[in-house]
Amino acid sequence: MTRTKVAVVRCHSYDDDEVFKAVRRGLDLLGGVSGFARPGERIVLKPNVLIGSNPEKCVTTHPAVFRAVGGILREAGASVHYGDSPTFGKCEANVRKAGLKQVGDELGFSIADFDSGRSVSHKDGLLVKSFVVANGVLDADGLVNLPKFKTHPLVRFTGAVKNQFGCVPGLLKSQYHVKLPNPYDFATMLVDLNTIARPRLCVMDGIMAMEGNGPRSGRPKKMGVLLFSSDPVAIDATACRMIDLDPEVVPTSRPGEKAGLGTYHSESIDIVGEDIESFLDRGFEVIRTPPRPCSRSRLRDFVKNRICERPAIDKVKCTNCGTCVRMCPVDPKAVDWHTGNKDEQPTHKYDRCIRCYCCQETCPEGAISVESPLIGRILFRA
Ligand code: SF4
Ligand code: SF4
Repeated sequence: MTRTKVAVVRCHSYDDDEVFKAVRRGLDLLGGVSGFARPGERIVLKPNVLIGSNPEKCVTTHPAVFRAVGGILREAGASVHYGDSPTFGKCEANVRKAGLKQVGDELGFSIADFDSGRSVSHKDGLLVKSFVVANGVLDADGLVNLPKFKTHPLVRFTGAVKNQFGCVPGLLKSQYHVKLPNPYDFATMLVDLNTIARPRLCVMDGIMAMEGNGPRSGRPKKMGVLLFSSDPVAIDATACRMIDLDPEVVPTSRPGEKAGLGTYHSESIDIVGEDIESFLDRGFEVIRTPPRPCSRSRLRDFVKNRICERPAIDKVKCTNCGTCVRMCPVDPKAVDWHTGNKDEQPTHKYDRCIRCYCCQETCPEGAISVESPLIGRILFRA
């Protein structure tokens, strides 16, 4: 089995100097920045800009990490560009809200085109044989993935592998949820995307992570760590071990290894830098059970709605903004004003729901969380 390396570096705060030193150390532990960028190369940074928001909310990759990685690549002679395709809206507006554009303008990084893309064949994909990939990614010499350390209801943990979903431009992303409602198929698609848009380097921002109702509405949680690797599967598995989450629970791990993207087995990963045990947080709030397929072809709706996790609206927090209704990708909508009265809050029809959690991910009030029906809790107790 191929060996892989993950560098783990402690970093207590987002102070620019501290982050810069930590990033420099992490890259040195992997052999130095020259292994990831050569003079004159066009390098695209791919931060997590799910939805542009204040960095203190921990939804997006922090500007200090973006500054340090981009600055070191620029010192190495690379031409630095950046971008992401957020859940809604254009890249530029979202990177501004996330505080990244201000850093990019200061350091002379330009925004790459993540709003449109081109079709690319991927005949070796495990499941998906072609993708539309953002022009900014296809036009780059190299991609550097800057994921945020967060929870996610569909894949349990969102790190390096899931972050690459933002290489698919705009609303095309939601079509993958409709076509691949089984979470294991969806995860395999993510792996296929990573093997066609493979990052040279991943630097994960876990200084302040997000636990609970991630990836948008969870709580910031200090982990005080930056992780570095050219292997997106191994970096995710290492982060999972820090929060006592079995990497096999994350559905991208096995196909990631099968596709040759990387490895999640601890015996194949050389950890350099700090000992991961020193970061162990067993109380980190994350769903620790594997996702359960809930597609109609697998279970009758009656059974599905009594055992499968599902999105649930907190009526106290809901402001009836309608974002969840707009973002629900199925037709007819599973979350909607089913009574026809838009003055009332939307409700879910679970027999239509494919459990993609786009509604939970995009609710601006954090009013949607994942609930397990009682029978499901009894049957699938972790
Ligand atoms: S997105 Fe959230 S706040 Fe808006 S209507 Fe849906 S549940 Fe309510
Ligand atoms: S209701 Fe939510 S989880 Fe269900 S299909 Fe719609 S967006 Fe996905």
